[in-house]
Amino acid sequence: MERVGGCLCGETRYEIVGDPVRVIYCHCNDCKKQTSAPYSIVASYAKEQVSIQKPGFLKTYESVGDSGMPVKRTFCSNCGSPIFSEVHVAPEMLHIKAGGFDDMSWLEPSAEIYTKDKVRCANINESIDSYAGGRPRK
Ligand SMILES: [Zn+2]
Ligand SMILES: [Zn+2]
Repeated sequence: MERVGGCLCGETRYEIVGDPVRVIYCHCNDCKKQTSAPYSIVASYAKEQVSIQKPGFLKTYESVGDSGMPVKRTFCSNCGSPIFSEVHVAPEMLHIKAGGFDDMSWLEPSAEIYTKDKVRCANINESIDSYAGGRPRK
């Protein structure tokens, strides 16, 4: 399966091969600020699955996550669309902001994280795994 997506202005485009490792809702406050939406849908892929076709305008903002470790959020510096994020604990992964996919109809999140920060207008009425903070790691 191949997925394509990109930013609002079209200067950033990517192509992804294969299925995501997982798709989740993220209710964390940093995602709210970054996306100006009540939650994010994030599709996580191994880095080698993702190829950025037009990387010319990518810019990365680094902040500190609640783990105390850096979180890198990469966006199109021409139009501001969030493209992907990277977290320190899983350096081999790219977490694609799913709103950038040209077709979002296939997305089926299996969990929601940071429900401690969930707002009322983001109530997801599904029986999926739910975590108050980040997804627990084995
Ligand atoms: Zn753009
Ligand atoms: Zn988040």
